[in-house]
Amino acid sequence: MSRLTKTGLIFQLAPNYHGATLVSLLLNNHSRVASLADTLPTLMYDQVCGCREKVSRCAFWSEVRRRIPERGYSTFLPVAPKWFGGAWLNGRVLYLCAAASLRAGVVLSDRPFFDSFDTFASLVRETTGKDIFLDGTKSLHRFLAVAASGRPVDLVLHTIRDPRGFVLSSKKNAKMDAKAAISVYNGYHSRVLRASALAGVPALPVPYCTSSLIAYFTKSFSVSDCRTRTSCAR
Ligand SMILES: [Zn+2]
Repeated sequence: MSRLTKTGLIFQLAPNYHGATLVSLLLNNHSRVASLADTLPTLMYDQVCGCREKVSRCAFWSEVRRRIPERGYSTFLPVAPKWFGGAWLNGRVLYLCAAASLRAGVVLSDRPFFDSFDTFASLVRETTGKDIFLDGTKSLHRFLAVAASGRPVDLVLHTIRDPRGFVLSSKKNAKMDAKAAISVYNGYHSRVLRASALAGVPALPVPYCTSSLIAYFTKSFSVSDCRTRTSCAR
């Protein structure tokens, strides 16, 4: 890890149903890696944190809320700069703008967002005493915006699953038909490769079988609380 990490910022990128949350929770056991599962709790309901407290009562998330006041986003902190439109359109526009900034060598700027990003990453490092922050929001436009802002990113962990497994999971969990699922799969994975190449950040492929194998062998060891989708820097 010390060979790879120069600045202590890693992004995990994968579509849903790729085992990324489990990989994130397991990596949090590394002495230098602070990795908070899906990273940002949603505000749609009061999630149970990995510390088993509700997010509203968890000491870490309460401190986050104290330092970075919520400004009308659906998650605890903004996932990405919010410029206009709904989340989908905003994400697409932001991706294109960040890509254009990287191509043109122009620094992308959005003070409120990047201030909140920096404050949060510092708070995670400060609370855990670890120097590597692994962002598990799985947001491509967040990654590209951070890279386009000039903040150095060490690595992208790119989790890849057999598309047949992804189609089955999407059918079962999101009632998505096969054609739509394949389109999501191809679109996301090709954008990860394009975005990491554009940002000059190496993408390390993490096969899904790795996470499912780890899940199988760690079931009885309770490595982390895998029932929850968020965790704190405890
Ligand atoms: Zn907690």
